[in-house]
Amino acid sequence: MDTQVDIQMPIKAGSFIIGDVIQRLLAQDVPFTFYADAGEDLEISSDHEDLLALVATSARDVNRIKQAARVAFKRNRLRTRGDSPYVYLADTDVLLPESPFFRSMIRAFERNPQLGAAGLCYQESDHVASGSMMLRRADFIDIGELRGAGKSCVCTYMQMKLQESSLAVVPLTKTRARHLKSQYSEGYPEYEAVQYQVSSDSVLPRRFLENTIEEYGTRFKLFVHN
Ligand SMILES: [Zn+2]
Repeated sequence: MDTQVDIQMPIKAGSFIIGDVIQRLLAQDVPFTFYADAGEDLEISSDHEDLLALVATSARDVNRIKQAARVAFKRNRLRTRGDSPYVYLADTDVLLPESPFFRSMIRAFERNPQLGAAGLCYQESDHVASGSMMLRRADFIDIGELRGAGKSCVCTYMQMKLQESSLAVVPLTKTRARHLKSQYSEGYPEYEAVQYQVSSDSVLPRRFLENTIEEYGTRFKLFVHN
């Protein structure tokens, strides 16, 4: 069956996805293809640091720009992967709610031509983040290479570009995602390490993920090698 959604998940080089995050993605209610990239991260040289110090208005600003640039760099490596009608931008740190929502998101796109992106927000925020966002592939490609623009994050940049085309970004209000960064600020549990070498197409095969969950439940860390 043709997949309707291409899930794109960038992974920090040398980092992992935990089983719980994978399980919630597998529980989604439309066929999808899962693309993951744990390849090189953006290198920020001392020359870059000097330039940023001149551009940014504070040390905090420097960090935010660096973070946004890293996210944009990593997402751009995956940007053109897949050919399904929808793209879902995922994040290793974002645990989706138990009940699936892909189908209802797609229905919303079908009903609303002016909908540009729909997504979940984390915790208290009402920011549709690029770690849980669905778009039509055509709109996503129209945005072009992603940027961590000046004072804003990649999500805000995408929102700005979509708005230029009169497309709206709408948060899902009924349910929220959980950002695991705060939960695991002291470090992730000592789960079993599973290694997977993806082929050049960056696909994480569903069968492999299902087998891994069968073997370990959700208590594993999946290290992806590109
Ligand atoms: Zn953001």
